[in-house]
Amino acid sequence: MSLIKNYINYIKEIISGEQYLSDKDKFTLMLHLCALAHLGSAVIFLCFGSILLMLYNLLSFLVFESLVTAAKNKFFKLVIVIASMEVVVFVTLTTLGFGHLLNYNLFCFLMIPAAFYVCNSIKDFKHPFAISCGVTVLSIGTYIFSVLYKTESGVKLVTMHPVLTNVSHIINISITMIFLALICFMFTIEMRNSTAALESRNNQLKKLSTIDPLTKLANRRSMSEKLNIAMHLLKKDKKPFSVILGDIDDFKKVNDTYGHDCGDKVLIMVANTISSQMRDGDFVCRWGGEEILILVNGNLDAAKSLGDRILNKIRESEVVHEGRSVKVTMTFGVCEVNESLRIEDFIQKADSRLYYGKSHGKNQVVSSITVN
Ligand code: GH3
Ligand code: MG
Ligand code: MG
Repeated sequence: MSLIKNYINYIKEIISGEQYLSDKDKFTLMLHLCALAHLGSAVIFLCFGSILLMLYNLLSFLVFESLVTAAKNKFFKLVIVIASMEVVVFVTLTTLGFGHLLNYNLFCFLMIPAAFYVCNSIKDFKHPFAISCGVTVLSIGTYIFSVLYKTESGVKLVTMHPVLTNVSHIINISITMIFLALICFMFTIEMRNSTAALESRNNQLKKLSTIDPLTKLANRRSMSEKLNIAMHLLKKDKKPFSVILGDIDDFKKVNDTYGHDCGDKVLIMVANTISSQMRDGDFVCRWGGEEILILVNGNLDAAKSLGDRILNKIRESEVVHEGRSVKVTMTFGVCEVNESLRIEDFIQKADSRLYYGKSHGKNQVVSSITVN
């Protein structure tokens, strides 16, 4: 009972996309169903009084169950060849036994989508197209034989009651349709899963392409997008925004004294400290080597106070490298953006203020330049 419950849960998870159908599972499922179909056929042939075909179906049942083991060991090609041959022999035998009117030859039609599906959906399967085409030719040949074979002129092994003939007819058509639906279902699931995997891969790549790998801050490219949006909102809704350009003071000295690794740690610490001070609508990026650009959702005063807050936090923070405490300061140039100029001009203005701060003692936030 719990086995059935587990199986139902598994199918539910596959439908909802939580589980992937592995190559082994694909084969196992199909082979078990083929085995089951043969077991059913054995019962039907017993009813028809055809002991020979009943025994053959029991044998086929065992063959398909053994193929499950082969599939579990990844002998996929062998499984396809034996399963295809089994269908050919089965259709030929039933045609010889009852003629083609009972529609056992419909099983030929199943071989084609099944072969194309399994050969092409299994990773690293060699020559999938050639093998599927081979199975197709085999299937066409077997079907044509079954239709051309004239029971009137040939040997008809078993004579059947008309009711049983109808029952068998309906069962065979149903089995064919159900298998076709199953293959279509598996193909659809496969397609949906690979699309979902591709989408998540794309999202991952997109994320990676917008993030600086060292500091995990956004990179220059994603900042440009944010700046364009902010400029658009400023023009449309008069929503003020400012930019802050920051640069670590005497960073070369840190690298020279403590090594590049320590420099990297300092950069990460600075990035984390700045990120921790961001508020709704603010955005920070690594603008260049050890330069940080912040888009502030607010006017010059708001940006200046954010700059002061960040500077104080950076002054308080430290990096411990090889047992030594390393502290840094930063200089910031702040500037409010308006509609009169291009965004690049305002970044340039913030850069001029930063430069002013650098040449006037560093370790400060500059929001205006006083000319003496
Ligand atoms: P100033 O106070 O005038 O800014 O002096 P500075 O020494 O910081 O000078 P500058 O800003 O020109 O120095 C940039 C240095 O930053 C040079 C470069 O070696 C270092 N740097 C840039 N990117 C990285 C990085 O990813 N890791 C490390 N460790 N160092 C970097
Ligand atoms: Mg510097
Ligand atoms: Mg610099």
